[in-house]
Amino acid sequence: MKPKAVRGMNDILPERSPTWRLIEERVREVIESYGYREIRLPILEHTEVFARAIGEVTDIVEKEMYSFRDRNEESLTMRPEATAGMVRAGITNGLLHNQRQKFWTVGPMFRYEKPQKGRYRQFHQFDVEAMGFAGPDIDAELMIMCARMWEKLGLRRLTLEINSLGTPAGRAAYRTELVNYFSEVKSALDEDSIRRLEKNPLRILDSKNPEMQALIEAAPVMIDHLDVESQAHFDGLRELLELADVPYVVNPRLVRGLDYYNQTVFEWITDALGAQGAVCAGGRYDGLVEKLGGRSTPAIGWAMGVERLIGLYEACGGIAGNAAPEVYIVAVGEPASRRALSIAEELRDQSAAIRVESNLGGGSFKTQLKRADKSGAAYAVILGEDEIAAGQAGLKPLRTNGEQVNVALDDLAATITGRLTN
Ligand code: ATP
Ligand code: MG
Repeated sequence: MKPKAVRGMNDILPERSPTWRLIEERVREVIESYGYREIRLPILEHTEVFARAIGEVTDIVEKEMYSFRDRNEESLTMRPEATAGMVRAGITNGLLHNQRQKFWTVGPMFRYEKPQKGRYRQFHQFDVEAMGFAGPDIDAELMIMCARMWEKLGLRRLTLEINSLGTPAGRAAYRTELVNYFSEVKSALDEDSIRRLEKNPLRILDSKNPEMQALIEAAPVMIDHLDVESQAHFDGLRELLELADVPYVVNPRLVRGLDYYNQTVFEWITDALGAQGAVCAGGRYDGLVEKLGGRSTPAIGWAMGVERLIGLYEACGGIAGNAAPEVYIVAVGEPASRRALSIAEELRDQSAAIRVESNLGGGSFKTQLKRADKSGAAYAVILGEDEIAAGQAGLKPLRTNGEQVNVALDDLAATITGRLTN
């Protein structure tokens, strides 16, 4: 029986890798052009880090974490997201107190969800965090950065939705109002929502249950209860987005699935990917550093789902080049085969580092030429006894109708470089 991969965890095969690389490189370039520096985090953290940061009564902590006890009986969790680990690392390494830091990272995240298109159990996120910035200028800049990325990747059909969750005090007052509202319609609530009514009523607004949507639509919204300072922050953000020509819509029901947010929250949504339309999401988390044991530090960040980003890139007609060899060396006979290895090295030595595949394991001329074709190479370099004796190689275009020509071995690298760059 064939072994199976773990459900919801995908192999990214060679045909897909060029697209992953292209997306990763472009996104990284944009992030770094805003002054963010890379930080590489462990996959595992103490479970406590996520439980405290994300919140006990959230989908992630209640049902989605991969947690286990290690041989020392410590409870560890495979990161479901990167913000908590990023803040933990900032505190652990003394990088946050009285400092301003802009960090980014990318890598796999793990959530025990129901796998479907755009939703996996191992998925990847780009993650960007700015710590020590009170905003709203940085809030706007983080969204402007995304807009630049969409532009650079040729992505369309993305909408920016923003909302404000206000301050914790403002949220407490709003919470009471929300509890009153949902209590009156309690008989219509689903099981999850009834449980959350007591523990975390805001989470009801984040419910994905279609039957709950009408009730959620009619619920009171936080944005009508903002205090003066939060309102000013939100107005400031809107003004900066308008100044930068980044269109947005205010979605008063946007609450996000994690507890640590306050003030600004936002999502970039597309209608091009079906049900899993959130490509990038983030918000301000001014209380999180303190909650995890550091000193109070304002902060904001976003996370972008790489699988969904790639899905949208392809839906918009994006294609990445492939990583096929440029040259396949066909060498028939002992002397030619021996010579072929050094010729291959010479080609790889070129400043343009030609991608070369040498025929390995012998084979007839016909077999080797078939392999050359299958490799996807643009050219076959043909070395036989006659060619070697004459100090020449045959250069055969494999993807066009051009004629095979003979080239002096001394000129081979320059000739191929010239052809490949034209
Ligand atoms: P969703 O509402 O789709 O479950 P979320 O609010 O749980 O998203 P975040 O925790 O904010 O998502 O993660 C940020 C981004 O990471 C999402 O906008 C999405 O692009 C991506 N993402 C989240 N969960 C998954 C998953 N299971 N598989 C693939 N991508 C995901
Ligand atoms: Mg989710």
